[in-house]
Amino acid sequence: KIAITRLAKSFGGNAVLKDVSLTVPAGGVVALIGPSGSGKSTLLRCINLLVVPDGGEVRVGGDAFRFGPGTRLPGIKALARFRAGTGMVFQHFNLFPHLTALQNIMEGPLTVKRMPKAQAEARARALLAKVGLADKAEQYPSRLSGGQKQRVAIARALAMEPEVMLFDEATSALDPELVGEVLGVMRALAADGMTMVIVTHEIAFAREVADRVVFLRDGVVVEEGPARTLIDAPRHPDTRAFLAHFH
Ligand code: ATP
Ligand code: MG
Repeated sequence: KIAITRLAKSFGGNAVLKDVSLTVPAGGVVALIGPSGSGKSTLLRCINLLVVPDGGEVRVGGDAFRFGPGTRLPGIKALARFRAGTGMVFQHFNLFPHLTALQNIMEGPLTVKRMPKAQAEARARALLAKVGLADKAEQYPSRLSGGQKQRVAIARALAMEPEVMLFDEATSALDPELVGEVLGVMRALAADGMTMVIVTHEIAFAREVADRVVFLRDGVVVEEGPARTLIDAPRHPDTRAFLAHFH
């Protein structure tokens, strides 16, 4: 599970996250929505400590990190181990261009987990099959469509056997006709019981797949609730105004 408590983050005097708390139970799916610049990506990056918070607490599974005046920052090793347990999928796939789909997926298990090659390969092939790309194992990223690249990126994150998966607008860079195949993989993961935080502008998808939706604005959680309730009947005027753009 994920428990974020009273998180604060500023960039050079610009307070981007202000006292943000967020809980995702094991197997839960939370969608994070909000206007551009509201702090969604920063919050997601704080969950896997790609961005180091100024204050508050980050808990994922059994790992807990506290931040604030006088607290010591986690060391490189602790950070690396922690990040490996939080799979992150970005808008721009960030695949290694010089590695095939299969090699991209094997890379983490081989180098970080020191998994034997045969085992890493067998697992990578199983993951490719899981995202519907069994026949693309030997293909380089430049030969894959955006949707295929993103599915390889998801498989690559899953190869590290993460406790949670974080998605930052995983479909925003895709042509409309390719969005569905990536959402399909995310939907299957959620149904499989993966704990997930999804930053998305796909409101219908959030409503369908997420248990809860969090609406962030100016670094503050304005409203939070069950997905359908929040999207169909938002209570806060700012949530209403934001959601009105999508009708
Ligand atoms: P979008 O929907 O456009 O992706 P977002 O909700 O993800 O927006 P963030 O990327 O979290 O928003 O950015 C929130 C604010 O923090 C913005 O004002 C942004 O300029 C600022 N910010 C984010 N990262 C940094 C950084 N590394 N250095 C300085 N400012 C940053
Ligand atoms: Mg963002």
